[in-house]
Amino acid sequence: MDWNELENNCSKCTACSLCSTRTNLVFGIGNKDANIMFIGEGPGEQEDLQGEPFVGRAGKLLDVMLKIMYLDRKDVYIANIVKCRPPLNRDPLPEEKSACSKWLDNQIELVNPKIIVCLGRISASSLISPDFKITKMHGQWVEKGGIKYIAIYHPSALLRDITKRPDTFIDLKKITKEYKQFKTEKI
Ligand code: URA
Repeated sequence: MDWNELENNCSKCTACSLCSTRTNLVFGIGNKDANIMFIGEGPGEQEDLQGEPFVGRAGKLLDVMLKIMYLDRKDVYIANIVKCRPPLNRDPLPEEKSACSKWLDNQIELVNPKIIVCLGRISASSLISPDFKITKMHGQWVEKGGIKYIAIYHPSALLRDITKRPDTFIDLKKITKEYKQFKTEKI
């Protein structure tokens, strides 16, 4: 599938019930040729209203986190595990995550990034390992299928608990160092 076909098919998806409560599909956004992807959990209220990932409070913090890594949105591709907002921001259900996984798998295949940063536990448990413990395992590289995965605390967790920020700063520096070597490869 190419990007047009993928987004078009995704916008018609009725594979789980989230399509009936969402306002907008939040497909993903950014540089389709990026070396680095950031994957969150699922759209929140603002994302659902605007059809774009990470545009609410957590998104503002994600922008700051990107800046710390000398990146901005035009350098990266941002998507979520589920493309439709779970009501009241509850965690996506296992059946919703698996119904939605083919869209993200296709996005990853098309972007073909060197690095995937999982934002939070839900993303890491889908993409790195099902029993992922974010408090213990954040900031650790895991290589799968030629892609380097790393999980960091979700920006919403960093808004709720600022004591997690120093660890995240270290993780962001680690990602910056790894990213540097890929920076010029895809020009
Ligand atoms: N939280 C997420 O996980 N994704 C978004 O797009 C917004 C908030």
